[in-house]
Amino acid sequence: MNLTTTQLLINGDRLNQSIARLAQIGKLDNGGVKRIAYSQEDIEARNLVQQWMREIQMQVRVDAAGNIIGRYPGKYPDAPALATGSHIDTVPCGGHYDGAYGVLAGLEAVRVLQENRLKLDRSLEVIVFTDEEGSMIGSKAISGRIINDSDYYRRPDGTDIQTCLTRVGGSWNNIAQARRSPNELAAFVELHVEQGPVLESMGKQIGVIEGIVGQRRFNITVKGSANHAGTTPMQMRCDALVAAAQVVLAVNQIGNTPGQQVATVGKMKVLPNAANVVPGWVEMSLDLRDLSSLHIDSLLKQLRIHLEEIAVATDTQISLNPCLHNEPALAEPYIQQAIARSCKNLQLNYTYLPSRASHDAQELAQITDMGMIFVPSKMGVSHDASEYTSPEQCIQGANVLLQTLIQLNSEKSLKS
Ligand SMILES: [Zn+2]
Repeated sequence: MNLTTTQLLINGDRLNQSIARLAQIGKLDNGGVKRIAYSQEDIEARNLVQQWMREIQMQVRVDAAGNIIGRYPGKYPDAPALATGSHIDTVPCGGHYDGAYGVLAGLEAVRVLQENRLKLDRSLEVIVFTDEEGSMIGSKAISGRIINDSDYYRRPDGTDIQTCLTRVGGSWNNIAQARRSPNELAAFVELHVEQGPVLESMGKQIGVIEGIVGQRRFNITVKGSANHAGTTPMQMRCDALVAAAQVVLAVNQIGNTPGQQVATVGKMKVLPNAANVVPGWVEMSLDLRDLSSLHIDSLLKQLRIHLEEIAVATDTQISLNPCLHNEPALAEPYIQQAIARSCKNLQLNYTYLPSRASHDAQELAQITDMGMIFVPSKMGVSHDASEYTSPEQCIQGANVLLQTLIQLNSEKSLKS
């Protein structure tokens, strides 16, 4: 049987049953799921996924970062493997699909190959990454970008990272060993729910991800002078909040210039924050995201000019201090093409779009060729009990994943 031409399809009922079964672990009264990384529920879910992997003769191991790596050996087990996967930890009130869907669709792809007694040339790995919703320690350990400070990974409840990793079969002291070499992995493809409204609003079944946006975060401070709100005449004020209001509008304006960027002021602190005092000092956040670093640079340049003008007009001092800088992680064009071809073969309509949320795939992009597939999220809702992607949509995305992996298996541009 020629795998590149076979229309091998996943078993949709089995996929959706697996999604429903996993969602039982950590189930909340409101229909949501609570499976915080390293919790009892997370451990129970990890055990179930490992059991499922073993049932289809996958080789299962847990690395030092607690990542579960299930391997379905290929005809050439020494060749760099293809990998897929995602996470099964959730936010405190998450849904059934964020992360879990990508893991279970990967598992379903292997189930189909295994029951048809088919092997790819390359081994196929399904990876469950540790703590995606928090530190992303699992995928960062694989890419070799762990911060060498155990306090950084201390949990909000105070538990140290060594204890957490031990619970899931990992080891902080050996975490460097989780790093994968580019020679081991030929490509990584993550299937995920969109967690946004774009696909649904466009009536598209599949999103071919161009990359995961870069993110810059800044603290903006506005220094004016606090003074009596009754006795200080309007023309004699240096009102930091009036300046800050103009800064918010300037940020919104650069967000609305042509392009795919998003720009947000989401947090603000006013001092002294009293009804009878002219505000003397404001601190606020700026979050700016786009697929192109150069474009972000150019938007920041425009914004700085605006801020200078606002400072002069309001007699205040405005400063912009960086506090986070994540470079974009671009998806490889040949993987995007393989996803698009799979959609065409399956007669599914698709569009290209960036991912504006973080995913484990951005870390894998540091060491191998990366691609991502999105399926629609109802009303764009995620990280909530009402998160929903229909069984039909789940099947469509999983078939695209399977077909994409089959195509990549024979892709010539893969490093081998
Ligand atoms: Zn996720």
